[in-house]
Amino acid sequence: MPGVSRSKCPLGWDPAAAGSRAGDGMACNSNDRRQWRKQEVAVGTAASRMRVLLNARSIRWVPQPELVSEEKAPGTQAPPHQCMTSTLLFRDKLSFGGTQRMQTYTTQMDAARKGIITPEMEIVAKKEYRTTEEIRQWVAEGKVAIPANKHHTCLNPEGVGSMLRTKINVNLGVSRDCKDYNIEMQKVMSAVNMGAEAIMDLSSHGNTQPFRQKLTHECPVMIGTVPVYDSVIHYQRDLATLTAQDFIDVVRLHAEDGVDFVTLHCGITRKTIEQIRKHKRKMNIVSRGGSLVFAWMSMTGNENPFYEHFDEICEICAEHDVTISLGDACRPGCLADATDVCQIEELVRLGELTKRAWAHNVQVMVEGPGHVPLNQVAANMEVQKSICMGAPFYVLGPLVTDIAPGYDHITAAIGGAVAAASGAAFLCYVTPAEHLALPNVEDVKQGIVASKIAAHAADIAKGIPHARDIDDKMGDARRVLDWDAQFACALDPETAKAIRDARLPEDDHSDTCSMCGKFCAVRSMNKALAGEYIDIL
Ligand code: SF4
Repeated sequence: MPGVSRSKCPLGWDPAAAGSRAGDGMACNSNDRRQWRKQEVAVGTAASRMRVLLNARSIRWVPQPELVSEEKAPGTQAPPHQCMTSTLLFRDKLSFGGTQRMQTYTTQMDAARKGIITPEMEIVAKKEYRTTEEIRQWVAEGKVAIPANKHHTCLNPEGVGSMLRTKINVNLGVSRDCKDYNIEMQKVMSAVNMGAEAIMDLSSHGNTQPFRQKLTHECPVMIGTVPVYDSVIHYQRDLATLTAQDFIDVVRLHAEDGVDFVTLHCGITRKTIEQIRKHKRKMNIVSRGGSLVFAWMSMTGNENPFYEHFDEICEICAEHDVTISLGDACRPGCLADATDVCQIEELVRLGELTKRAWAHNVQVMVEGPGHVPLNQVAANMEVQKSICMGAPFYVLGPLVTDIAPGYDHITAAIGGAVAAASGAAFLCYVTPAEHLALPNVEDVKQGIVASKIAAHAADIAKGIPHARDIDDKMGDARRVLDWDAQFACALDPETAKAIRDARLPEDDHSDTCSMCGKFCAVRSMNKALAGEYIDIL
C-alpha cells in the first residue's frame, strides 16, 4: 500500500510525471481530474475507500490561484469553478437538470414530498450506503437535510441527519483584526482536504461578497453564512439604523450568491429580553448573531425581524433551496447557564419555526449548545429531538468544561462525541484558539482533527454502516507492523508519518517503533505465534 506524500497522488499516480500543474500546488485541469478519477477507480484500494468514507480527500482540492482582494468590486463573479476531490460524485457531473428541476420541484424537501429522487439524494445515498428511497423519505420528513443551493453547482452534496455519518463544519472568515482573505482561503483548502463537509463564512470586515462568491463558485463542500453579521458590513451603517427589510435583503443576497445554509437567529423575541433580564444568566448571550439581534431589538424597540418576517424569509429560501439553520442565540456560554429556561424557551420556539419552514418545503437544521456539563449532553439531544421533531441537530461543541482555553478543541470533541452518539448530526468544530483569538491555519487543522475524531467515534458507536471498517484495517496494519498501511488509514497521515520518521528505532529493528524497540509486544507475539526465536537484547 503506498505511503502518502505531498507531491504524489496517494493512489499511485504521479501528477508531476503526467505534466499536471497539481504537482506544483496549482489547480489541475480537467484531464488531470479525469486521470485522477480513473486511477481512483482502477486502484480501488481499501485505504482509498476508507478515506472517502471519512470524507478526507485523497486528492487535494485546490482553489483557483487568483487572490481574493477585499478591494474587489462587489458582485464581481469568480471564474468558472473547478472542483477537485477524490470523491467521484459531483452534482454538476450528474443529471442535474436545472430546467427539469424548475418545472417539477423547488427544494430537496419539495422533491422528496413529491416522490422525486433528486441527483443530490442519489449522491447522498451512495455515500451513506443507504437506499435512495430511505434518503427521500427522511428528507420528506425533515429528518435529513441536504443543504444544496441551486446556484452552488460545484457542490458535492452531503446529507445531514442523525442516521447518517456525522458531518463537521469549519468556521472562518476575516475580521477587522485579521483581514487577509488569502489566509482564509488557505484555511478553506486545508479544511476541505481534511474532510470538513461544510465551511461557514463568518467574515465581518471589508467587502465580503467576492470571497463568498469564490466559495460557492469553486468549493465542493456546503457553504453556510450568518447574514446578520454581514448586514452591518454590507450597508456600512450602524446596527440601529438598519431596517427589517435591510436584513431580509441580505438573506436574499446570500441566497442568490449560492449559499447552501444560513444561520438565522429567529428564536429570540422581545419576550427573550425580559427572560434574560429576569433570569440573570452568568454569561447572558454569547452567540455573536444572537447578541446583534438582541441589541437591535433593544435599540429599536422592534420585534426580531427574522422571527416577524419568517414566512417571507422562507419564501426566499424556497426559491433558491437554501436550508435554514435555526440559530440558538441563548446557547449557554458557561456550564452554569446550561439547560436553563432561556435555552429551553428558545428551543421550543425553534420547534415551532421548524414546522413553519417545513410548511414552505424549506429544509431546517436546529443549532444547539454550547457549554454543557457532560452529564447533560445526551439529555439535551433527546429534548431537541422531541421538540424539533427529529430535525437535524447542529451543535457547537458542546464544551464540557469552561477552564481549558487553548485546549477547547479537546473539550468540544469530548462533548461532540457524546452529542453525536446521542443524536446530533452536525458538529461545528472548535479550535484551540476558541475564546482567545481568530484561529490561524494550524488552529484550524487541530480543530478539524478533533472534530473528525469526535464524529467518527460517534459514528462507530451509532453503528453507521461501514463506519468501523477503517479501524479494522488499522488493526490489521498494526498487527503486521505495516507502517505505510497504518499511515494510509490514519486520519492525519502526514503527522503520523512525521512523528515516526523523526524518531525511528536506532538498531536494525525498523519493523518496530522507538517506544518499545525490541520489547515490541506486537513483534514478540508475531514471532511467538510463528514459532520463531524472540531476541530481546
Ligand atoms: S514498539 Fe511498542 S508501541 Fe511500537 S508498535 Fe511495537 S508494541 Fe506498539
